[in-house]
Amino acid sequence: MSHPLELLIVETVQLGGSLVFIADQNPATLSQWQQPLVQDFAGEIPFVTRTAEDLLAQKYVTRPEDLVMFQSNQKSVLTSLDAILNGQRVLLGAEASSAESHQWDYAFADLSLHKWQLILQSLKAHWGQWSALQGLDGEHGAGCLFLDRDDVVVKNVPYNKDPEAVQLLPGICELINKAHAQSYWVALVTNQSGLGRGWISWTQYQSVHQRMMQLLAQQGAWIDDCEWSAFIDEAGSPRGRLLAGLRKPRNGMLLKVNNKLRVNMAKSVMVGDSASDLKAAFAAGVGRLYLLASEKTDKEIKSLQAHQAVYSHFKFTVLEKLSDLTL
Ligand SMILES: [Mg+2]
Repeated sequence: MSHPLELLIVETVQLGGSLVFIADQNPATLSQWQQPLVQDFAGEIPFVTRTAEDLLAQKYVTRPEDLVMFQSNQKSVLTSLDAILNGQRVLLGAEASSAESHQWDYAFADLSLHKWQLILQSLKAHWGQWSALQGLDGEHGAGCLFLDRDDVVVKNVPYNKDPEAVQLLPGICELINKAHAQSYWVALVTNQSGLGRGWISWTQYQSVHQRMMQLLAQQGAWIDDCEWSAFIDEAGSPRGRLLAGLRKPRNGMLLKVNNKLRVNMAKSVMVGDSASDLKAAFAAGVGRLYLLASEKTDKEIKSLQAHQAVYSHFKFTVLEKLSDLTL
């Protein structure tokens, strides 16, 4: 049976993260821990070494998908980094006591250098299998069902801030469950300019989001990754999170999903009710584009036809209802 750390490393690589070794207090032993990563994995398991000082000065910022590795003599270093550290915190070779365990996501009390080497040997033996199964390589990985939120997953209530008003569209749970059963990822990519305009607070947005996830969960459905864009630029005055590239029809949200999940874009599918959903997906290399019918479909089709005049290989299909979609 695999050691849990083996699985954690696979997941980290799969999500595009790195192992981040904290260098303070043990630079000499660190190279021994890193040696098998260099020798046996030739860069396939990305890792970096950083000091607490670098992190505090923000010369390096850890990411949520990173695995941040501390040795047992570095517990005090974590305390100084606690507020700024992203990623999962792993304590290696410690006598984990319950009093401090809240600081760590994982503490492997029994982990000696020898055991670490054995874990990596085992990982190496299974690496081909892991990488094939887990889709480490986007080209050979799983496709993703990309979904717009309003009028695809939930009925559109403009600038909704009321969780009670959340209603799922018919067939959405069945579609998500079908996608998961066929090894697709499922991701939500939603423009939420109401956040940028200040019409919806972040707390309200979250409560609506949670209600949606709760309703999905009641039918066994979940979404693997959710991206939102608060960006809005009216009259030359950009507001929201100032990343215009995230807002559809630009493709930033889909690329973020791809970066995290290593999606095979050509195998992927987009379902949206707006022309901008499909244009964003096309620009991200998504293979199949579906426009879900709504009262605005005629207008959206005109916009998509204009896009086709520029991009001759831009193709889309109109879906009357979600249950018509074959993955
Ligand atoms: Mg929509």
